[in-house]
Amino acid sequence: MGILIKDILAVLPGGVSRKCTLYIDGERIHSVDREPENFRADRIIDGDRKLMIPGLVNAHAHAYMTPFRNWADDLDFNTWLFKKIMPMEDALSSEDAYWGSMLACMEMIKGGVTCFLDMHMFPGCSARAALDLGLRAVISRGLSGGAEDPEGGLRRLREALEEIREFSGAPSLSFMLAPHAPYTCDEAYLCFVAEKARELGVGINTHLSESLSEIEDIKKKYGCSPVELYDRCGLLGRNTVAAHCVHLSPEDMDLLARRGVSVAVNHASNLKLANGIAPVTELQKRGINLCLGTDSAASNNSLSVLRELALVTLLHKGTSGDPMAVTAAQGFDMATANGARALGLQGKAGEIRPGFLADLAIFDLNQPGITPLGDPVSALAYSGAGLSAHTIIINGRIILENGEFTSIDPQRVYFEVEKTCARLGIS
Ligand SMILES: [Zn+2]
Repeated sequence: MGILIKDILAVLPGGVSRKCTLYIDGERIHSVDREPENFRADRIIDGDRKLMIPGLVNAHAHAYMTPFRNWADDLDFNTWLFKKIMPMEDALSSEDAYWGSMLACMEMIKGGVTCFLDMHMFPGCSARAALDLGLRAVISRGLSGGAEDPEGGLRRLREALEEIREFSGAPSLSFMLAPHAPYTCDEAYLCFVAEKARELGVGINTHLSESLSEIEDIKKKYGCSPVELYDRCGLLGRNTVAAHCVHLSPEDMDLLARRGVSVAVNHASNLKLANGIAPVTELQKRGINLCLGTDSAASNNSLSVLRELALVTLLHKGTSGDPMAVTAAQGFDMATANGARALGLQGKAGEIRPGFLADLAIFDLNQPGITPLGDPVSALAYSGAGLSAHTIIINGRIILENGEFTSIDPQRVYFEVEKTCARLGIS
């Protein structure tokens, strides 16, 4: 299908914002401003009073957890996770997880996201939801295991491998292995998962150095930091995405930089669970690829990457006293190109360039909160947190148009998620 997007204000590579005309041919951007020979536009989008950006990337999410939104709040991390969330996860069915994932995908798409990295515990839930909505996704089954639960560890890994096989033909999906965290996997299991990932040629998605209690427990058990433990298990590399990374020593940061690990910053989740603030400016100084994640609706409680963009560009100014600490342009890169790089889409997505995948978010500028627009990147960082997308294109397909989903009925999704919550007694 050919799509022509006419005279639209766009954020182009290098943070340059200007009016342009975009030609999309099939799943890719064919050209910017230069009409291809014999181009046939099946669809024409008028860019008047609209802003187009490369689709946002949510580099850390648990889509199935949306039924737990606004339910277990104002709790410390360990009470929240072990006493509230984990028992409730055990009560979910895989159908519940699917509808929860559908809701998460809807929320992300409305918020301008075109690709996300998911960690789940119900095989197929987020893969099916992403396919049903047309959202690009990197899927990973959360893995926990070790000497205390050898059978469970093997079962979860088996499920991950089966899921990869089942969905391997879907061009908009890719996969990682996801050792959940250093406190839910023992060293032997972590090493085993690292070896499997190398064998399969897939990346690693994990939680790392999230809370102080994790740092203390790992130090007690292994005599090192969680980052050092992961390194000796062979889990740190260019295709590793480590979420959180709140509590890091300078040596940990050097090690993450040397190994080329991408760090997914999850400020809202870390703030709400009182885990602290990731040392973003220190990581930036070391040239680490930083991207943005929302974590789940149970800990955030929003899946808005634009809100994460606001947080990352505001927080570090306040804590450092330096107004240039994380600029709007740096934050925007984290939300787009850096996220694409972390998810294995470097040189393929995350920027509006000829040959790149047509993954685009278009916002209507007729909204009071962003009028006057001023600098578009500043607008997204500092006044864009509440914006809803007007049009979303993924893989050259229009999946949201005039704010409406083109392939699903949202009412059905709301109904099913409410039904889950009623059954679980959490709403
Ligand atoms: Zn998480």
